[in-house]
Amino acid sequence: MSRTDNPTDLDPRDWDELRAQGHRMLDDMFDNLSTLTERPLWQAPTPEQRARCRAPLPRAPGSLEDAHAQFMADVAPYGSGNRHPGFMGWVQGGGTAVGMLGEMLAAGLDANLGGRDHMPIEVERQVTAWMAELFGFPPDASGVFLTGTSLANFCAVLIARDRALGADVRHTGIHGDVRVVAYASKGVHACVVRAMDMSGLGWDRLRLIETDADNRISLPALEAAIAADRAAGRKPFLIVGTAGSVDVGAIDDLDGLAEIAAREACVFHVDGALGALAMTSPDVAPRLKGIERADSLALDFHKLGQVPYDAGFLLVRDAAAHKRTFTYSDAAYLRHAERGLAGGEWWPCDYGPDLSRGFRALKVWFSLKTYGLDAIGAVIGKACELAQDLKRRVEASEELELLAPVALNIVCFAYKGADNAAIVADLHEQGRVAPSTTTLNGRVAIRAAIVNHRTGPEDIAALVDGVLALGRAQTGRG
Ligand SMILES: *Cc1c(COP(=O)(O)O)cnc(C)c1O
Repeated sequence: MSRTDNPTDLDPRDWDELRAQGHRMLDDMFDNLSTLTERPLWQAPTPEQRARCRAPLPRAPGSLEDAHAQFMADVAPYGSGNRHPGFMGWVQGGGTAVGMLGEMLAAGLDANLGGRDHMPIEVERQVTAWMAELFGFPPDASGVFLTGTSLANFCAVLIARDRALGADVRHTGIHGDVRVVAYASKGVHACVVRAMDMSGLGWDRLRLIETDADNRISLPALEAAIAADRAAGRKPFLIVGTAGSVDVGAIDDLDGLAEIAAREACVFHVDGALGALAMTSPDVAPRLKGIERADSLALDFHKLGQVPYDAGFLLVRDAAAHKRTFTYSDAAYLRHAERGLAGGEWWPCDYGPDLSRGFRALKVWFSLKTYGLDAIGAVIGKACELAQDLKRRVEASEELELLAPVALNIVCFAYKGADNAAIVADLHEQGRVAPSTTTLNGRVAIRAAIVNHRTGPEDIAALVDGVLALGRAQTGRG
């Protein structure tokens, strides 16, 4: 990119030259995306590459070509591999080219969605209205994009806290003998525990309830815990249900939880990071019954929704309660005007912790308009079928053992008598498939979370073959 001698001139002198360079960069990324399987899923960066990324602070200009060449050589081939069809680690989406283009256009607009009167905010509200419709929330439900479900769960806990303690707690902080308690299954994601801490309530105010044979929260155990807390003079205020637990993909009985929450006058929040979007899959949606009764719902478009990172979302039934928790109208420089650019009735900064915020909604908007909700549902249905396929293969093998029921898209299993953590590390270094690990009942499990839309039967076969070969090599079997 050629520049004028004026260092403050950050736009190019010759737009056509930059346009050509941009096309080459985009072409390289399309090539990269269309040839994913020709390269290892993951490879450790070399010490030389890491060293090149520890260069001195660049004070003088360099060329865009050089920066891009370094990106292509040192960065792009050494990503975490979640786009690759063999990736089954943790719970990560695979992204799409359409999502990438949406993200690029969002950056081109450089929109700040903190507030004010502009069309990008209407796009975010459009996605919110779609989510309200999908999940059976009222049309005036509020919603806000956040980095991920960790933040969305945190915001939900704050809203519930303020409902229990009164919005005054925002002024006074939590002090004195505040006896509120929250409940979730012991399979709840760690970020809910952290949300308790970050909200000032503390981990000790979260009860982790036993689960049943299917890893769903035990409703009798929950009711007993609530009764014991009431008898001890405590005040139950929040029940968190999980739609797709991170370890094994279990879906709590959301209808049952909604019932208990209504009876106990608790806020009912659902962590749907993993499973909420399965609402788009006719096969899975019936198992989410009760989600429409939640007071708030956290979900991730960047997991099964296949939207590139990051795209977390919080949907809240009572928009007024949502706003009460986050609005701060004392700052003169943030005053809403009656008209003009500083107008607009909907300022997302009143509904979350961020002031400046990017245009995450655009990549979601493009993805939903381009692929349609039914395609997302089909991808999720396929992921669940592949998980069942893997489960059958595990059960059919003498050497493998299934370690948890398969409710959604996650299969936890082990090679009998082997060091399964070592098997997983070996698989990562081979670069063909990448499951992760978890610990279930004290045993290390190989955990395959089928999330990526590119994953197919051949990847499931490669996983099973890879585990069998490594397990046999370790144990001297076969
Ligand atoms: C991934 C996940 C989270 C955390 O979401 P982030 O988007 O990573 O912040 C929370 N809960 C569940 C069930 C998850 O799977």
